[in-house]
This record gives sequence, structure tokens and C-alpha cells, in this order.
Amino acid sequence: MTGIAVLGSTNMDLVAYVARAPKRGETVTGRDFHTIPGGKGANQAVAAARAGGDVSMIGAVGADDFGSLLRRTLESSGVDTDLLRTAEGPSGTAHIVVDDEGGNSIVVVPGANGHVTSLAPGDETLIASVDTLLLQLELPLSAVLDGAEAARRHGVRTVLTPAPAQPLPPELLAAVDLLIPNEHEAAALAGVFDPPAAAQELLRQVPEVVITLGSAGCLYAARDTPPLTVPAPRVTAVDTTAAGDAFVGALAVALGEGRPMREALAWASAAAALCVQRPGASPSMPYRPEIDAAYA
Ligand code: ATP
Repeated sequence: MTGIAVLGSTNMDLVAYVARAPKRGETVTGRDFHTIPGGKGANQAVAAARAGGDVSMIGAVGADDFGSLLRRTLESSGVDTDLLRTAEGPSGTAHIVVDDEGGNSIVVVPGANGHVTSLAPGDETLIASVDTLLLQLELPLSAVLDGAEAARRHGVRTVLTPAPAQPLPPELLAAVDLLIPNEHEAAALAGVFDPPAAAQELLRQVPEVVITLGSAGCLYAARDTPPLTVPAPRVTAVDTTAAGDAFVGALAVALGEGRPMREALAWASAAAALCVQRPGASPSMPYRPEIDAAYA
């Protein structure tokens, strides 16, 4: 099995469905409410574990009921949580209001995630033992950098999802093997909107890039090979939340198994297409037999 460590966030998504979002000072009555486990780190961990990886999660949940639920959600998908700390105070939460036009507004309160400012005892030993470390940008940057540098010291493949978009220190990109932005993040990092041009620009800082393009699929570029484009399966999307995380988790598993890049990208695209056909974040991640059936 491919060994994967995820250093990242856990959040409880609190989603209220309303006809229209309230203005400042206004109260509106909502139609529905869902509590959905998420956070980019946890989503990628669940995606990789369900895709067949041997996955461990590094990060923190809060000392509250959401924390217990977030931990149990990871464990029920087979993710090892021995290095998932319980920090004082609340778990990370995302307060999401979805209106009838499908628009949303979101407040993210990092909570326990904000306490993960560096690696803790045991984290580097775990990172040294895996094939791949998955990173995103929902933890303090100091911890993300520590993780990337630990992975580099031990020759572990480092995959960074640069979301939410923000300027990155060059020393972080210098420690990344594979960068997986969506097209908006790629444009923000590269300063160029056209994805092929953005990929070429990003290759000055990292050896390999995959830009995800939503329903248009993805674009892979590396310094020493011609670029590849892989289309997304044509499906009816009901909720694209966490599609990028489904893609990254499955891609990490396929690459860890030594599958060629084009095949790994197509398999990851099959996983992401299954994710968009289901509501929610972590719960929408497909299991390996489903991915294999969709890929065949
Ligand atoms: P999110 O923020 O929702 O996690 P993202 O913006 O990071 O997503 P996208 O580029 O939108 O990432 O999607 C990631 C991958 O998911 C795409 O490369 C594609 O394989 C798949 N995908 C997304 N939307 C669709 C869709 N409508 N139909 C099929 N596949 C999709």
C-alpha cells in the first residue's frame, strides 16, 4: 500500500440553505441545515484512504464535540489519527450560507488548525516513513514549511495544493515536487491566466505541475517531458465541493503505486468525477472499487 501522510486542516462545515443571504443586521429563516466534515487536509486524507492508500493525518481538532466527530470521520475511512492532536478551544469551522441561486458566502474560523504552527514530536518520523506528503494552505504557513522541509530531508514526495490562494515563500516552493493548483490559484501564483502559460511559469519554481480545470479536466506539465491534457469524464455535477481534494488524494495513491502519469491522472479524474456527483466534502469521496469501475 502507498504510505501517505497528510499535514493539514480539519473543519466542520456548517451549511445553512436560504432563499437569499441576510444583509447586515437582518435575520432570515433558513430552509435546511447540514453539518458536514471537511477541511482540505481531512478531505484529502479521506480521499486517499478510500482510494486505497495507507494514510495518516497530522493536524489538530478542538476539544469539543466537533473534534470527536471529525476524528471519528477520519477513522471510519481508515485514516490513522495517532498524530492528530486535540488542541484547546474549538475545532475549525466553516460557516456556509448557500442561497437559492447557488451562490454562497463563507466564514472560516481556523480554531484548532491555527494551533498547528510547527511539527510536533513524532511527526517527522512519520513523514520519513511514507511515500508522499500531502500539504495545503489551511494551516499556518510555518507548519506547512516545516512539513515540506522534513519531507525533503527524507526524500519523500511532496505534493502541495496551494489553496486558499496566497503568495508563497520561495523556500516552500523549493521543497515541493508536485504543485496542484486549480486554474485560479495557478493564475494568482504565476501572474498569467492562460493555464499552459501559467504551468510553464510555475515550472521555474517546481519540477512538476498539475492544473485542475474543473469540468474541462486537467493539464500536467513537467520540466523534462511534453505537457499532457486529460479530459474529465462527462457527468452531471450536483456539488463540486472538494473535487480538487478527491483528485489529489487519488492521484497520490496512483503515483505511489508507480502508475504512469497519464494513467494516474485519468484515474484521479474518475475519482473526482464521482465526488462531484454527490453532496458534501469528506463524505463524497469515492472508494477504490467505485473508482476502478468508473475508470474501466
Ligand atoms: P474544489 O475547490 O471544489 O475542491 P477545485 O477548484 O480545487 O475544486 P477543480 O479544478 O474545480 O478544483 O476540480 C478538480 C477536478 O475535479 C478536475 O480536474 C476534474 O477532474 C474534476 N471535476 C471538477 N468538476 C467536474 C465536473 N463538473 N465534471 C467532472 N469532473 C469534474
